Order: sequence, then structure tokens, then C-alpha cells
Amino acid sequence: MQKPMDFRDFVEISPTARITRDTHGWRAKCLQRLVRLEMPVPKTVALSFQAVRAIAAGQPVEAAAILACFGPAPLVSVRPSAQETEWGGPSTVLNIGMNAQRHAELATTHGQEAATTLYLRFVQAYAIHVARLDPDPFMVGTVDEAALDAVLAAYEAEMEEPFPQDPLRQLAEVLRSMARAWEGTTARLLRQAKGAPAEAGLGLVVQGMALGIGRGVSGAGVIQFIDPVTGQPQVTGRYLGQSQGRDALADPDAALYLTRDPRGPSLEEVAPEIFADLIRFGQASRTRLREEMQIEFTVEAGQLFVIDAVKVARSSRAGVRIAVALAEDGIIAPEEAVLRVEPRALSELLHPQVDARAPRDRIARGIAASPGAAQGKLVFSSAAAQASAARGEPCILVRRETAPEDVRGMHAAAGVLTERGGITSHAAVIARGLGLPCVVGASGILVNPRDRVLRTPDGRRFGEGDVITIDGTRGEALAGAAEMLKPALDQAFRTLLGWADAVRDIGVRANADTPADAATARGFDAEGIGLCRTEHMFFEEGRLTVMREMIFADTREDRAAALDRLLPMQRDDFVRLFEIMAGLPVCIRLFDPPLHEFLPHDRDGMLELAEALDKPLSEVIRRVEALRETNPMLGMRGVRLGVTIPEIYEMQARAIFEAAIEVGRRGAAVVPEIMIPLVSAKREVELVKTRVDAVAAAVRTHQGAAFDYRLGVMVETPRAALRAGEIAQHCHFLSFGTNDLTQMTYGLSRDDAGRFMNAYVQLGVFPEDPFHILDAEGVGELLLIGAERGRAAVPNLLLSLCGEHGGNPESIAFCRQAGFDYVSCSPFRVPVARLAAAHLALADRPS
Ligand code: PEP
Ligand code: MG
Repeated sequence: MQKPMDFRDFVEISPTARITRDTHGWRAKCLQRLVRLEMPVPKTVALSFQAVRAIAAGQPVEAAAILACFGPAPLVSVRPSAQETEWGGPSTVLNIGMNAQRHAELATTHGQEAATTLYLRFVQAYAIHVARLDPDPFMVGTVDEAALDAVLAAYEAEMEEPFPQDPLRQLAEVLRSMARAWEGTTARLLRQAKGAPAEAGLGLVVQGMALGIGRGVSGAGVIQFIDPVTGQPQVTGRYLGQSQGRDALADPDAALYLTRDPRGPSLEEVAPEIFADLIRFGQASRTRLREEMQIEFTVEAGQLFVIDAVKVARSSRAGVRIAVALAEDGIIAPEEAVLRVEPRALSELLHPQVDARAPRDRIARGIAASPGAAQGKLVFSSAAAQASAARGEPCILVRRETAPEDVRGMHAAAGVLTERGGITSHAAVIARGLGLPCVVGASGILVNPRDRVLRTPDGRRFGEGDVITIDGTRGEALAGAAEMLKPALDQAFRTLLGWADAVRDIGVRANADTPADAATARGFDAEGIGLCRTEHMFFEEGRLTVMREMIFADTREDRAAALDRLLPMQRDDFVRLFEIMAGLPVCIRLFDPPLHEFLPHDRDGMLELAEALDKPLSEVIRRVEALRETNPMLGMRGVRLGVTIPEIYEMQARAIFEAAIEVGRRGAAVVPEIMIPLVSAKREVELVKTRVDAVAAAVRTHQGAAFDYRLGVMVETPRAALRAGEIAQHCHFLSFGTNDLTQMTYGLSRDDAGRFMNAYVQLGVFPEDPFHILDAEGVGELLLIGAERGRAAVPNLLLSLCGEHGGNPESIAFCRQAGFDYVSCSPFRVPVARLAAAHLALADRPS
């Protein structure tokens, strides 16, 4: 025989009752705190996780013992109380205990209409949530005796028994149904998606009803003391007479404002004492519960009751402001404020966003490659984007995929959408660097650049000039100009990150290629540049032709002449970067991409080039063909170019050193860091180092100036990681380029991965896109091997990660654990990285 539920499994909530979040859930604990603050909470009983589990498993419910706590003929409510608010729970049921007899009694004490409303509502809730009947027959429009009779009859017809009249049976059935709902597969999956463990428990709270419906001032409402979007102090909420629960929010037209409001009557005017009490309760809960709470209250015949309180739902920007204000008011410690803000949520503050409350007309869905939202007129080419920018018209650049020659167009665009590509595709990397909202791999759209038409999966057609919105945070493109929220880089944001910096123990630098990137990086307090990709500089106005001349040079002299023209341009680039970074370290990567990226791809472009170089078109075509590679990303690029055409690296080294001297003369000493890409063998480093050292010596002699520099290697081939011990002997630093390292470890092209990545992740082949979240097992093992072998050879070797993973909290945790000195990420991810690093440091502190 089953044992009846243990009496001790429920407890009346009092200031001293043994109630914890881990045994009875957040709501029970919160109500106890409100009781301790002497707020007028109706009598409440809490059932533990253990008790609810036993009920779900079929143990009889001691409804009589529970109801006995509430005196004679009680009406009660039951609400869920999971360990964390976000994990949800079954719907609340109000007015348990209503039956024909109570209906008749309440008709005399509270009036016929109130009594009928209460009974009708209970029958509806019970039928839908407990008996799980089809809601339709219970959705009656009016509240009168006839409607009540109709729902009672509908219940009887469906269940083949009259509506249960016994309050004990009613309560037992409500508790049983809520306990079982928690165990259902859908509910389980939903809460697990929000981080709940498989065995998460549910508590239930049974509370005496404050009716809110009846004679005198009666009603219900919610109040909070903060604007949920901005986080600024502001009383918001609604109150509705003759209502229960959250009815006031469902019927804003009929509801009263809380504070005086020109738009209509307010609770402050109608019931000033009640309003004053609510303000007092808000202040008390802020200081004593150390949180901004939304209070749910009921007024019964002029008497105020606090029914419930929940943490105010808030936008990310409000979350930052609330945490900082609580710490500044001495209510929580700064470290706690740091921990209260989820690092990823910060990126929402850095860019304009589509207002989540506004309607959205989605036309495409892809990979959220760079966060933030932008809107503008559609353009289909880089040239059109630049023309649009010149007219001062914001535009969205749409391409099948982007190539280096699109960079200028991307600079000019407000946002980017591509049909193909993954999270580390060209468009994604450049857009993140520029802080440009970007959606890539929008499968299903068809981009026709020739006709300048975009077709969407639902068959719509958008042409040049049509306005769309890019939501790079969600990975969506929307028709028209959606409603937007402005970025929020306010004082609260800066204060929070200042507190984060005070506790973190791993450095954060930025990947910055241009003066604009560098300025953004400094604005976000990056501790230097961890990766400056120099190749983008050669795409700038006036340089591309010189670059092409260099590539097409027939003799050493011709090449030297072209490089001599590029030298002052590069030097100026570096001067500006060094100036902006004002003495902070700047790590410059020598030229990396295959040369063909600088060449035109179509006949028109080749004709233009033939004219510019004054060469026959046939020769241009032949040379372009000769430079074409079958698999360029694994061909003649990176250090392989540096070894075979050493003049390019020599020119770059000279430009770096001369810039360092020039800026050093004017201010802080610059110690440039020079990084060699795509290394796989020690000898490559030796060859480049010999030449760079020779250039340094020549510049020192020529300029009569002393300077220091540091040489390092970008570890982005598996072999470089494995041979890090010997490679490190020639290096001051190793920086792991996890984009290429992931590509090469998996044998998976960065630019093509988007085609099947969704399927792979859905089928569980990869837990995540490894270009997005560092593959800690495979690529991570190479990082650990490289770090260990490198440091064994050179104990003070500087270690870092500069791939796109550098801004991810998971990768930062990995690097910190592995003893890396810093991570480097796109400028707009620097704040996220700073906060994530602080979280990790705080989590490691002894409690
Ligand atoms: C890398 O490969 O990780 C890297 C940072 O370099 P790029 O993305 O320029 O290849
Ligand atoms: Mg690389």
C-alpha cells in the first residue's frame, strides 16, 4: 500500500520556516523574503520538490492537511515554483474551492456578479488545465448565470460527471495535474533548453486568495520601478478594478495607470494610501532582495495584498544599468554586478537593434554573422554601395558571397547579406571587424547581381533601391525599415567594464586592420592590437593598381619599383595605427593571402588592368591564368610567398620599422610585433627572420635610430602546433590562428562549411559549428600541444589566440586554463571578452 504524503513535505511560509530555493523553488523563497519584509502576503503553504515528485509518482495528496492551514471554507491558488524563474512551470490556477455552495455564499457577501465571475473562472481553468479539455466550449464571452450554467454543462458532458464540488478533491487534482505536467516530455525539453538539469524539481505554492473581485475598492495589478527597456528608474505597470492576477496587463484600455498620467485616471489618485504602500514595498524589495522586482498585488475591499514578486524582465541594456545602479547604491558589490550581466548580452548594447516588440516581416534567415541591425536600400555591387554612400543614402550590400575586392563596398554599406558562406567566411570576418550587421549563408535566397534582383524563399522579389533591414543578431533579413533601438554605450556600460577589468586575469586585444578599427578598439579599451591583417590595406583607393603592377612585374627591378611606391603608403598605415594605439602593443601580420585575390576575375576587369599596365589583354589573361590555384587557401600564400618573393615582406618590415621610429620620435616608444602567417616549418621562420633582421639593421643604420621589435609566428597549420617546440626557438610569441587551424584540422573549407553545417549540427555530427565555437577536443588539443611544446622550449613565450574564436566566452575559458597571455578578437567583441574574462576569474575565486 502506498504511504500517504509526508506531512512535513509542505510548510507554511513564515519568516523562520526552512525554505530554500533548492528544496522549494524560487517563488517559495521569494515569498518568504516578502513575508520577512512584513509585506501583506496572504497565508501561503509551500510544497517541496520532493513532495511534488511523490505526487507525480502517484502518492495520495494530503489535501485536507494543506487546506486546514487556511481556516474554514478557504479559496486558494496554486502556483509553480521551480528552482530558477526561467525554467517556467505549469499555469497558475486561481479560486480553488469555488463550488455551488461558495457561489451562493459569496453572492450575499460580495455580490452576485463577483461570485459568478469567480466560479466561472475556476471552472474554466480547471476544465482546461486540470481536466485538459478542449478550451473552445469553455470560452464564453459573457459573465452571467447562463454562461456559468453553460460551462458547468459542458464540463459534465465532456467528463460524464458533474463538476467536482469537494474542495479537497479540487485541490488534490490541481496539485496532481501540475506535478505531472512538470514531468511531461515537452516541458522537460523546454526547461532543459533554458539550462535546467534533467532532474530539476518543481515546488508548488498554495496561497489563500485575495479576491480582487467584490465590493469596495477591489482589483489587481502589477507594479515595477524601472523601465524594462532602458533600466532608468520609472514606475510602470497597470491596475484593473474587479480583476485578478495579471488581468490588468491583458486589458490595458480598461486598466488604470499607476502614477498620475495625463492620458487617464491613476491608482495614485484613486487610492493614494495603497499607492504609497506599493512604492514603499518597491524600495524595500530593492534594498533587501537586492534586485529590481515586479510586484503583483491585489486589493480586496480596500485592503492591499502582495501576491507575488518576480525579477523584472529586462532588456540587456536595462540589465547593465540595473546591476550598476545597485552596486553604486551599495546594495550589491561591484563584483556581483559584473557577474549579473551575461557577457554575450553586451553585444546587444554596442549596436542598434531591431526592437523586439515591433512587428517583423522576415524575408530570409541565415547565419547571424555580425550582431546589430541596419537598414537601407538594396545594392548589389561594391560600386553601387560606394555610390550610395556618396549620396548619403544608407545601403545594404547583397552578394552571393564577398571577396577582398568587396571590402570597400562593405565599408560603404550599413549592413551585408550573402547567399553563401559560414561564420568565418570573408563577409563574416570583415563585417565583424567593421562592426557591420551581417547575415551570411541565407539559404533559400537567390541573388542575381546582373539583374540586381533578390528573390526570397517565399517568392518575393526585391530590386535595387528597395529598403530592407538586416538583423545580424538573429540572422534574419526583414522587409522594409523595422523599428530600431539605439546603441547604449553609456556610463553604466563603462563603469561595469571598468569593474570587470579590475578582476580579470587574461589580456584582451583587438583584431584591427585600419585606423578606424584601431580607434574602435581603443574606444572599447582593448589592450593593444593582437592581429593587424595587412592585406586589406592593398585594396584601398590608388593602391590596387600598384599592387597589381608588383604582381605582374617581369624583373626584380620592376617589382622593386612597385614596392617602393607601396612602401610610403604602408608606412603611413602603420604610423596611424601606432599613433592611435599610443604605445600599446601592435602585432602586425605580414602579407597572407594568395596573390590572385588582387587580380580581376572578369573580362572587363582584365581589360581595365591591361590598359592600366599598358600590356596586351592576352598577356594579362595568361598571367591571371598562371596565378590561378586549384585550392588557393592551401597554396601559394602566407609565409610561402614570403619565402619565394621575399621583397614583399622586406618592404613591409621596412615600413613597420620606419613608422615605429617616426612615431617613437614624437611620443611613446613603439615596440612593433611582426607575425609570420601560415608557418609549417622551422626553416620558414629562419629564412624570414634573417631577412627581417637584416632590414632592421639597415633601417637602424640608415636612420641612426635604435628600436626594438618582436618576431612571432601565427600557429595555424597543425604542423606548426606539433613542431611548436622548434619553431618557438626563433620567436618571441606564438599566436594561434584558429580559423585556419580549424579549417586544416577538419580538412574543411571555411568558405564552404556553411553549406552543410546546419545539417551536421542538427544530426549531432558536430556539437556546434567549429568555426564559431572552438572545438576544444580536436583543435583544442593542438592548441595545448603547441602551447606546452612552445613554452617548454621558451619559458617566457607570449601565447595568444587571434582567430574569430577569441571573442567567445568558451574559448576565453580554454585559453585562460591553458595559461595564454591574451586573446584577440574583433573590436566590437572586446567588451564581451573583457566581461567574460572577469566572470571566469571571479568563478575561480575561493568563496
Ligand atoms: C586565422 O586563420 O585564425 C586568422 C586569424 O587569420 P585569417 O582569418 O586572416 O586567415
Ligand atoms: Mg589564417
